[in-house]
Amino acid sequence: MGKITGFKEFERKNFKKRPVKERIEDYKEIYIHLSEEEMKEQAARCMECGTPFCNWGCPLGNIAPDWNDMLYKGKKEKAYKRLILTNNFPEFTGRVCPALCEAACTLGINREAVSVREIELTIIEKAFKEGLVKANPPKIRTEKKIAVIGSGPAGLAAASELNSVGHKVTVFEKNEKIGGLLRYGIPDFKLEKNVIDRRITIMEEEGVIFKTGVEIGVDIKAKELLNTFDALVLTGGSNVPRDLEVKGRELKGVYFAMEYLSQQNKKVSSEKFEEEDINARDKNVVVIGGGDTGSDCVGTAIRQGAKKVYQFEIMPKPKEERDDTMPWPTYPNVLKSTTSHEEGCERQWNILTKAFLGEDSNIKKLLCAKVEWNKDENGRMSMKEVSNSEFEIEAELVLLSMGFLHPDKEGMIEELGLKLDERGNVFTNEDGMTSMDGVFSAGDMRTGQSLVVKCIHDGRMVAKNVDEYLMGESFLRG
Ligand SMILES: Cc1cc2nc3c(=O)[nH]c(=O)nc-3n(C[C@H](O)[C@H](O)[C@H](O)COP(=O)(O)OP(=O)(O)OC[C@H]3O[C@@H](n4cnc5c(N)ncnc54)[C@H](O)[C@@H]3O)c2cc1C
Ligand code: SF4
Repeated sequence: MGKITGFKEFERKNFKKRPVKERIEDYKEIYIHLSEEEMKEQAARCMECGTPFCNWGCPLGNIAPDWNDMLYKGKKEKAYKRLILTNNFPEFTGRVCPALCEAACTLGINREAVSVREIELTIIEKAFKEGLVKANPPKIRTEKKIAVIGSGPAGLAAASELNSVGHKVTVFEKNEKIGGLLRYGIPDFKLEKNVIDRRITIMEEEGVIFKTGVEIGVDIKAKELLNTFDALVLTGGSNVPRDLEVKGRELKGVYFAMEYLSQQNKKVSSEKFEEEDINARDKNVVVIGGGDTGSDCVGTAIRQGAKKVYQFEIMPKPKEERDDTMPWPTYPNVLKSTTSHEEGCERQWNILTKAFLGEDSNIKKLLCAKVEWNKDENGRMSMKEVSNSEFEIEAELVLLSMGFLHPDKEGMIEELGLKLDERGNVFTNEDGMTSMDGVFSAGDMRTGQSLVVKCIHDGRMVAKNVDEYLMGESFLRG
């Protein structure tokens, strides 16, 4: 334990944020990191509990108490090495993870939790700056060849792990660039894309082969890959969005969140796109869906110069603080306000969108109503429209951000005839294998819409399973 009295001496101090006025003028990251001395104090707040619940809360089982202690003692290289034992990409999670660990931190029972995510980011960024993050190719190569299809966090984690034990890994990606939703979903103001490029360069130096602009199932048949590779890992994500099939859905100006966000990310990277330009400038924007993707739409619309931005959610407003229904150390479903919300957005809950109203095929207004939620006789939440609560709101741009249903089955999944689970995701057995021998799956494609940290974990697990399948045993940690 770094400093026995640390948690009593030092208050939690978060990274600073660039002022709203300044940051909405660009797409650069928002946070300003604290100094090394300040971060040592933050690390000193960790009590290194006998039972570290943070480690249980993190899907990767990150050993936060160890690296907190090492950072506090100035052992930066040791801290970095301990961090990457369990996490291939701390520079991603340190930026976008909802910090499930912090919700489970023991200090959080009656004080503010240790700032685990910011400490994680500090350790990895220092390691990059000081040249500690270097390519570490395997000393010996096996004769085994593996194709990973999809280059999001699950595919990248699987590729990195499988390459580390000597297999020859090729990652196929249908987009022009590597990264999946890290690149084409999450906005630059949360994760600048040079952070992904930096990691890909290292993976290439380690021997991973990346092939972009290749859609498996379309450009190359998945069955063809089975002739050339010893195993396939499908990590194609969950990309079929939930639609809102109400009157007027076909009007111009109503788009899925991903159509909008991926285009803006391409604009920031000067990447070409063929679709029509979607721009919020001088428009009233309504984002439907109160989650993180919706909040990313809010921040993007504000940066594009929207006149006014609303975010509507059909569910009730979550509680501001934990209560008995979400006790420590579970992850609490409390009201989450993001940096995008701070930038000027009106949020409303219990709102049902009943129709899109247009003029000359363009969206002009939304017809909405208020709803209330009650438990039915089976204890399930049921929704009822509040009588006489209908209202109209002007909007020239509507962004549908109501989550994703399952992966797109056309192409690779249909071609291989893979079994699906009851939610339409790719079914895998306890060894991570699909219904076809030698074909594995991980990430959102297998679990449904999830989080970066969970996908890295799933990618690590599938790598261990593939290694065992090919070699009979595996020394990977999973
Ligand atoms: C807008 C948005 C913001 C988000 N923000 C956060 C956040 O802040 N924090 C967080 O933890 N999570 C966030 N998430 C969730 C997170 O990004 C995903 O859970 C995660 O990226 C899924 O990883 P994955 O590797 O399973 O798939 P993906 O990241 O979806 O990558 C799949 C890749 O496979 C490729 N592919 C698919 N089929 C084929 C094929 N046949 N041939 C070749 N390539 C193929 C796709 O083009 C894609 O690049 C966000 C999601 C969205 C949409
Ligand atoms: S990956 Fe996420 S949950 Fe795990 S230690 Fe880092 S911030 Fe916490």
